[in-house]
Amino acid sequence: MTSVDTPRLETLLAQVGCSHSDPTGCISVPIYQTAIFRHPGLGQSTGYDYSRSANPTRTALEEAIARLEGGERGLAFASGMAAIATMAMLFRSGDHIVVSDDLYGGTYRLFERVFKPYGLSTTFVDTSRVADVEGALTSSTRAIFIETPTNPTMKISDLRALSELAHRKGVLAVVDNTFMSPYLQRPLELGCDLVIHSATKYLGGHNDLVAGLAVTRDRELGERLAALQNAAGAVPGPQDCWLLMRGMKTLALRLDRQQHNALLIAGWLRGHRLVERVYYPGLPDHPGGQIHGRQADGPGGILAFTVRHEGLVEQVLSRVRLISFAESLGGVESLITFPAVQTYSDIPAETRERMGITDRLLRLSVGIEAVEDLIADLEQALQ
Ligand code: PLP
Repeated sequence: MTSVDTPRLETLLAQVGCSHSDPTGCISVPIYQTAIFRHPGLGQSTGYDYSRSANPTRTALEEAIARLEGGERGLAFASGMAAIATMAMLFRSGDHIVVSDDLYGGTYRLFERVFKPYGLSTTFVDTSRVADVEGALTSSTRAIFIETPTNPTMKISDLRALSELAHRKGVLAVVDNTFMSPYLQRPLELGCDLVIHSATKYLGGHNDLVAGLAVTRDRELGERLAALQNAAGAVPGPQDCWLLMRGMKTLALRLDRQQHNALLIAGWLRGHRLVERVYYPGLPDHPGGQIHGRQADGPGGILAFTVRHEGLVEQVLSRVRLISFAESLGGVESLITFPAVQTYSDIPAETRERMGITDRLLRLSVGIEAVEDLIADLEQALQ
């Protein structure tokens, strides 16, 4: 086989949504802005009937993400949370899930506030410690839900070891791959069963849409999730599917630049007298850095840092001029957030403190701007 048969990820990305079969020859997949499709005859279908079930623009996106993650079935959702909520519907009352303790606050809220009352229980553990995960498994456990690196303290979990553990125990290994994107990390290749993305972040890349994606390693799980996608109906419209594919085309270029910038900023912050600690998998002594190096192709574009005293948090957030004080991550514009209040307020204060999400922690999503400008902005904000 030549590389034409097995193109590299950069090539697949550049050609996301490229139509090769449209009779007009159009290069960009059309936006099929329609809710319904005419039936050719009684009992006949073009393959498309109603856009909640399937829409050709969405199909192009779903096929693209499946190929990028190396999975059997890709599915698109209205948001990352919609993808995670639909995944949770795979389980029943009485089932149990082991979840990374240091994960996106919205996912914590969904499990604790929404699904727990329905009888789906969760145990939050430090998934960077495989023995702790094993210890938390019960006869009711159906899945291990992992974020790596975690959000925001960049804890690393060993995806190969966790997927082996999951399969030994007959449970699913599910990974929220939002922070890395398929360009840097492909959990299905490491044995995991299901990958989820907040495509609002790196895949979309421009802070202009909200979407979620999921990819399964096998067809059967894909069919079950597709049935839930149709039944619950949290799907994106064709415009957003198209815009997301438009963003995905430049993912490799964007992330290369974001990583380059993040590495320089992490090193600079580390030497700053008002910064106590920097969390970034690209730093040589980052805990779990070796595991990350084995399972991912780069450290990514997000870092977190603690400032020396609480007063500096408000100062930095109000003084930054080029970097925006805004939630979210992964876009071309640099953003800074205060996780303890903005995304983790649903997590009890003492749990937050234990996880390192203190009142002095800031998270930076590094964009594609000139890195000198970003450092100058941080410098004047910290002064
Ligand atoms: N997973 C992670 C790691 C996230 O950071 C987020 C959002 O910030 C989500 C899931 C939820 O995605 P969305 O905001 O698209 O619903």
